Amino acid sequence: MSVKILDGKLLARDLKNALKNEVEVLKKEIGFVPRLVNVMVGDNHGACAYAKSQKKAAEYIGIQYELETLPEDVSRQDFSECIKRLNADESVNGIMIHKPIPKHIEYGDIAQYVDTDKDLEGINVTNIGKMLVGETKIIPCTPASVMEHIKSTGIDLYGKEAVIVGHSVIVGKPLSLLLLEQFATVTVCHIATSEAGRLQEHVRRADIIVVAVGKPSVIKGDWIKEGAVVIDVGINQVNDKIVGDVEFDAACKKAAFITPVPGGVGPVTVIMLMRNGIEAFKAQMKKKGK
Ligand code: NAD
Repeated sequence: MSVKILDGKLLARDLKNALKNEVEVLKKEIGFVPRLVNVMVGDNHGACAYAKSQKKAAEYIGIQYELETLPEDVSRQDFSECIKRLNADESVNGIMIHKPIPKHIEYGDIAQYVDTDKDLEGINVTNIGKMLVGETKIIPCTPASVMEHIKSTGIDLYGKEAVIVGHSVIVGKPLSLLLLEQFATVTVCHIATSEAGRLQEHVRRADIIVVAVGKPSVIKGDWIKEGAVVIDVGINQVNDKIVGDVEFDAACKKAAFITPVPGGVGPVTVIMLMRNGIEAFKAQMKKKGK
């Protein structure tokens, strides 16, 4: 079976163009466009690269995007005051907190200050709860990107065996809900699955396998089921190369579809952030009767 590489840059381009059209219509109807603010602490190189790609995507789509930088030694109080100020500013439609943040501040704690209506990343507990009952369009960006990749294969998830490796709050857990909504049969594996020596048996039966661990080659290529869809979320630096969590070349011999790293899930994740910004803007305008 020949594998099809799921090109995240191409998918991102198509999604970006659709959002650009949507923003043009919103601008005509409402008179202005969404304004998003990314709050970053310190000057982390990786985080800056991600912020740069967000800025570029926002400019293309026609959204206002700003970076608010706080000092590395910012206190919890000053950090939360900054978020509250942005919450209160009616001209700001979306807020995100750029990771990493300094160790002296708990990410989950600060994230809860972000107004539910402006929560660009869908990380606020209220939005997570709304997602559980299917009441929000603000979906955490990485799981949303994974779902777009799966959708692009044209495969119907109904009754399929979907196996997620990694159970983090930002990827694995919310993704399990999105897959369940499509009636996939979902298994979530994690470190204890590996320690129990049972990772391989779960991966082997997966029609759809999504890996978000952060360890190169944690999934061996020959574990992949013939004809499976393989979505690799992992990002690992090995020597001077970026690689995913799946043994790519070996997995290509078995899979029907696979995402590359880099150039797979990442580029679409950025666009999902923009989509959340537009959804937040539309919901706020609706509340205001515009
Ligand atoms: P995390 O550290 O919060 O969670 C890692 C998960 O992997 C946990 O569930 C843990 O139990 C599991 N795990 C660890 N070792 C394992 C093993 N040997 N076998 C099975 N499971 C194991 O990580 P995260 O924040 O979810 O990120 C995971 C990876 O995805 C990282 O490489 C990160 O850089 C990447 N990531 C990429 C994007 C993107 O848009 N492309 C977005 C977010 C995260």
